[in-house]
Amino acid sequence: MKRIVVVGGSIAAVTAAQSLRAEGYGGQVTVLSEEPHPPYSRVPLSKGVLAGRESVESALLPLPSEDIEFRTGARAVRLDTSGRTVTTADGTDIPYDGLVIATGARARRLTGDSDLVVRTLDDASRLAARLAAAHSAIVLGGGFLGMEIATTCRTLGLEVTIVDLVPPLLRLLGPWLAELAVAAARDHGIRVRVAPDGVEVLDEHRVRCGESVLTADVIVCAAGDVPNTDWLEDSGLALDAGGGLVTDACCRVAPGIVAAGDVVSRQGRRTPHWTNAVEQGRTAAASLLHGESAHPYRPDPYFWTEQSGLDIKISGELPLTGTPEVLAGSVDDRSALLRWHREGGTATAVAVNHRLPVIKLKRLGAGVPTPVPARTRART
Ligand SMILES: Cc1cc2nc3c(=O)[nH]c(=O)nc-3n(C[C@H](O)[C@H](O)[C@H](O)COP(=O)(O)OP(=O)(O)OC[C@H]3O[C@@H](n4cnc5c(N)ncnc54)[C@H](O)[C@@H]3O)c2cc1C
Repeated sequence: MKRIVVVGGSIAAVTAAQSLRAEGYGGQVTVLSEEPHPPYSRVPLSKGVLAGRESVESALLPLPSEDIEFRTGARAVRLDTSGRTVTTADGTDIPYDGLVIATGARARRLTGDSDLVVRTLDDASRLAARLAAAHSAIVLGGGFLGMEIATTCRTLGLEVTIVDLVPPLLRLLGPWLAELAVAAARDHGIRVRVAPDGVEVLDEHRVRCGESVLTADVIVCAAGDVPNTDWLEDSGLALDAGGGLVTDACCRVAPGIVAAGDVVSRQGRRTPHWTNAVEQGRTAAASLLHGESAHPYRPDPYFWTEQSGLDIKISGELPLTGTPEVLAGSVDDRSALLRWHREGGTATAVAVNHRLPVIKLKRLGAGVPTPVPARTRART
């Protein structure tokens, strides 16, 4: 292969491009990113960057090595798999021998482009400017992102109401852990509203929620994400019902084409988390170069979130059912190391405000016993 094109400009794309080099690929690597910025991490955008605690520069990812061409402002608008070309918005056809698709996802909007969301650096800057002059906010959506944005708004001193459609909030976690997080949110001063019949955004300050109309200086939309696959619609590549790009276990999409990160639908679902994007980026690069001899991607789910004074790290599958085993700390103090056993002998380990190296948390999540220091052993 003389040239590999990587479409996307964030963690999955950069990891894949760098992994091609690590795997010994010596041909041309061209990364096409639609954003005007160098690659950056989205993780602090809803946390330290939005709160003004962390600089924008601190969110920047290390640039790919100099032997990788990184083009900003280069939006792919079409893929021709038989001609092996990607067309960019300015009409340029870029030929490839191998292709990595890592176009991620965008924020789902409820009314249109004027919705305040947090997906990109520009979104975060725009929202931060609005929050600086605001006294109150409504956050639409009670998932991880919505809870993080609500926490940041509260930390900035705003009155905050979070509105979600179906109870419980954070349902992805499962009821036990979701209740812990929602209780922490209430203690943090965040008002929680559930709107089983949906919400209607009336204008930029008003939301209808059942019988009542809620008002705030700022309304933020955190209603999930949509995979960026519009540019693939005529390509013949398989998309799932939600628009995710279907891959096999080795991140392969079609001959000479692999994919990684938030855009990927594997076994019928997407896993829009940082660690998944990194690991799939590596797998996709290896699969493209080594074909059948590549190792399948083995999901090793690891995810974290910071909200309402809780630092939650999760290793293993979600959602969680039943009550956990308390391995250390105290649930009442909201500082504990927890484990849920799952069918098939696996487990999900969760550290809530509990310092433990990721590798040890992963061992607990894999069901491997890790000795817990006697000093911190729980009183159960
Ligand atoms: C605010 C926020 C906070 C988060 N916090 C956490 C967290 O605490 N923990 C965690 O595990 N995960 C977190 N995540 C999720 C994590 O950031 C994502 O899983 C990760 O960014 C996915 O990386 P990606 O490269 O697959 O996709 P993306 O980050 O979406 O990047 C896709 C890139 O492709 C570009 N692109 C899209 N379409 C085109 C096109 N047609 N042509 C060229 N380029 C294109 C986009 O501009 C973008 O640069 C958070 C996400 C957000 C938004």
